[in-house]
Amino acid sequence: MFIDRARIQVTAGNGGNGKVSFKRAKGFPKGGPNGGDGGKGGDIILRVDEGLNTLIDFRGIYEWKAEHGDGGGSKQCTGANAPDRVIRVPAGTVVYNEDTGEQIADLTDGDSVIVARGGKGGYGNEHFKNAVNQTPRKASPGEPGEVIALNLELKVIAEIGLVGLPNAGKSTFLKSVTRADPKIANYPFTTLSPQLGISILDQSRRVVIADIPGLIEGAAEGAGLGHDFLRHIERTRVIIHVLDVDPDNALSPAQNYRNIRRELVDYSSELAEKPEFIALNKLDLMTDEEQQEAIDALRIELQLDANQEIFAISGATGFGCNVLLEAAWKALHGDEVQAGW
Ligand code: GDP
Ligand code: MG
Repeated sequence: MFIDRARIQVTAGNGGNGKVSFKRAKGFPKGGPNGGDGGKGGDIILRVDEGLNTLIDFRGIYEWKAEHGDGGGSKQCTGANAPDRVIRVPAGTVVYNEDTGEQIADLTDGDSVIVARGGKGGYGNEHFKNAVNQTPRKASPGEPGEVIALNLELKVIAEIGLVGLPNAGKSTFLKSVTRADPKIANYPFTTLSPQLGISILDQSRRVVIADIPGLIEGAAEGAGLGHDFLRHIERTRVIIHVLDVDPDNALSPAQNYRNIRRELVDYSSELAEKPEFIALNKLDLMTDEEQQEAIDALRIELQLDANQEIFAISGATGFGCNVLLEAAWKALHGDEVQAGW
């Protein structure tokens, strides 16, 4: 259902050419061959990085290349092997050969796979010396590196699920926090589907958020939501419960909160047990004083203890959203920072 895809072409490095050269030294005008072999071209390796959860890095970058091996030198110098090019992919990436459709790998934690091999270096002329020919002028070229077009597929797993009544502001929040900041991300969108988006906290941290839109009376029986989606959101690790500060219905935010919690338990007890953040939304509609009153009222009605935080936000203006996402991030990852991307 939520499959992130990327098409890329990987080109391993060519081997370096073998060298034709002869010893030259005072008193030895006709020295023997001493041309070295070329170095090996770099392999292309896909390696799982547990910090990644999307194929975003591949948007707009089609060609991935490794360097070529160095040519052989004189005096039996072998050319340097090129370093392998390691491409980081999220766990769960399935790799297909685009031309044949063949599955090359299904990568999970800790895996890596060579998808294109670098060419071998060619032989220098020293290699071709034999009893008959003591001065071969022949060397062989490096082999070309493999070139292969790949299809990458990933089932995107959201780490944060949004719950709340219809009109609480889930979609607005999702849109607001997953809008790409062009200074950080040079791809055009971070919304993978209407219900799934990627929030970029900064250069090294991003998180996939799923809107769980159908959590209303009857939704526990699966009305309107596919099983795929249910399974998907059961894998979220943190819930953000979005509450309208001024609900359309005649109930208070706290009453709506309880109703949704009840729905959530019926819907999926697994989901209901996840750590939850309460986001009191649409606070842009209120003065500072009214905001504080609303927060206090909710706190009292829900009998929250002092360490249970209420996050005051406005999905419409973005107010408070970063604080909330930072807290959710911390619940998910502690203080760890994802590897650079
Ligand atoms: P959802 O059903 O939970 O996805 O709610 P939506 O995001 O579709 O929002 C429902 C309505 O509330 C829309 O008219 C939004 O414009 C409005 N809304 C959502 N968030 C805010 C907010 O932070 N402030 C205000 N003033 N309106 C909001
Ligand atoms: Mg919605």
